[in-house]
Amino acid sequence: TVHIVGSINLDIITSLERLPLPGETVLARAAARLPGGKGANQAVAAARMGAQARMIGAVGEGDAGRWMRDRLAAEGIDVSGIAVLEGRETGTAYIAVDARGENQIIVVSGANVLLSGVAPVSDGVLLSQLEVPVPALLPVFAQSKAVRILNTAPAVAGARCLFDHVDILVLNQPELALYTGGAGEGGAGENGTLERARSLLTRPEQAVVVTLGAEGALAVQRDRHVHVPAVPVVPVDTVGAGDCFCGSLAALLDEGYCLTEALPKANAAAALSTLGQGAAPSMPSRAAVEDLLSG
Ligand code: ADP
Repeated sequence: TVHIVGSINLDIITSLERLPLPGETVLARAAARLPGGKGANQAVAAARMGAQARMIGAVGEGDAGRWMRDRLAAEGIDVSGIAVLEGRETGTAYIAVDARGENQIIVVSGANVLLSGVAPVSDGVLLSQLEVPVPALLPVFAQSKAVRILNTAPAVAGARCLFDHVDILVLNQPELALYTGGAGEGGAGENGTLERARSLLTRPEQAVVVTLGAEGALAVQRDRHVHVPAVPVVPVDTVGAGDCFCGSLAALLDEGYCLTEALPKANAAAALSTLGQGAAPSMPSRAAVEDLLSG
């Protein structure tokens, strides 16, 4: 089982000719509601990769929370660990996208920031991100007997206390720069990335995986590293690529693949996820990933 402890958001997406200036009202061409939140997105990616996924998080009372629960359940995700918090709002992201693809996003964290009392897990893989409070994650990471994966997105300065309790840290380049204090040793090239990633290791058996966008991904351990080049695609929308990578990686490790075997598949899944609009809706099926790698 992949146990995902993370955020659950309703995304309300409006398409506009151009984004409003302060004080201005603009009319949208269309609006849609989509499932969102890094936790929920990663749960969908893990489920579509074939994992038994269990979502642990919090929503508010009312329609939005029920709708999100139903969307996740429809993916075959176990939703029994989603708390419904009385008198609270479900996390909501208000996203405006203009004709050029530029966006403005306002997030109301709602029930997500009130998540607490999560029990440690004793099997499979634990996967979290930083849209839920670090104090809620700390005891879970410290006490779980599972492969523990932390995706440090969005970058939260106070999250460093978790790193020692993580088996695999997954971050993108801006997050790596933030956690290692800017340029750091080794400069900006691949050697610099390698050095910075290695500086985050606190235990010999840990790994740091840096996602490199169109350059693929780099996995770093104390004494070795491996770079997997990106699968060449023409992206339509890269929102959720990192979530797809993390959810897929968790599913593959839960299935028994080692990190080096899992990386090319997670990398291919993430590339496929850029070919569709939105985050959760564009997560690929396991079959699509296998087809891409065998073709
Ligand atoms: P984030 O979405 O968190 O910013 P990245 O941009 O590093 O993270 O993307 C995550 C993963 O998605 C990459 O490691 C890669 O596997 C895949 N990916 C992202 N952009 C592309 C692209 N242009 N072409 C192919 N794969 C991509």
